[in-house]
Amino acid sequence: MQHQPTGSRPIRGNRGGNGCIAWIVITNEVMPMLEFDQALAPPPAAAQRAGERPQTTRAEAEAAVRTLIRWAGDDPAREGLLATPARVVRAYEEWFAGYRQNPAGLLSRTFGEVAGYDEVVILRDIPLQSTCEHHMAAIRGVVHVAYQPRQRVVGISKLARLVEAFGRRLQIQERLTAEIADTLAQALQPRGVAVIVQASHECLSSRGVRLHDVSMQTRRLLGEFTQEPRRREILATLAG
Ligand SMILES: [Zn+2]
Repeated sequence: MQHQPTGSRPIRGNRGGNGCIAWIVITNEVMPMLEFDQALAPPPAAAQRAGERPQTTRAEAEAAVRTLIRWAGDDPAREGLLATPARVVRAYEEWFAGYRQNPAGLLSRTFGEVAGYDEVVILRDIPLQSTCEHHMAAIRGVVHVAYQPRQRVVGISKLARLVEAFGRRLQIQERLTAEIADTLAQALQPRGVAVIVQASHECLSSRGVRLHDVSMQTRRLLGEFTQEPRRREILATLAG
């Protein structure tokens, strides 16, 4: 399924042990509200793979929103809420646009004419907007991506698209981090890949323990970036 260039070795990541590490960082930093490209969202039915998941109509989705409004304690028939189900369903098309994207396909076009460039490529502060799969609450933060090319590079906008394609799904931060790193490794077969995700979770701040000003960091290092001293160097660089 994934693009596998010939003539290069697959990257060997530290996946089983500490390849992806998560910990909580208390910070006073307030994550900014992040906006993504609005020009998304073809009709969801068009991209749903037939036979894999039952098709849901827009009317059914809007009825489900009316049910949740009633469950919350309000009247979906009152004037202010009449158009809300339609708006929520349109918002879902944007928040979950990742299901209609093929992340590996985004990286299928790579460039080999790099004049021997073999140093690390870093894209920092890629905006992340995702949704926690346990509470369907917002996850917002940033992603830092670094890779050291072996022969091929990818357009930098594609790195942001990759984050978007995995972010705009129901996610947990650990898996999101791993998916971004693994897809990049498979597409480019680079010497090393590092992905750091720093994000705040609305389900942590608005409910339950109600922890504000808490962010979570996850990271995944693959290939040469798992070995010292490269590991320490790349982490220091990405920490900025
Ligand atoms: Zn959650």
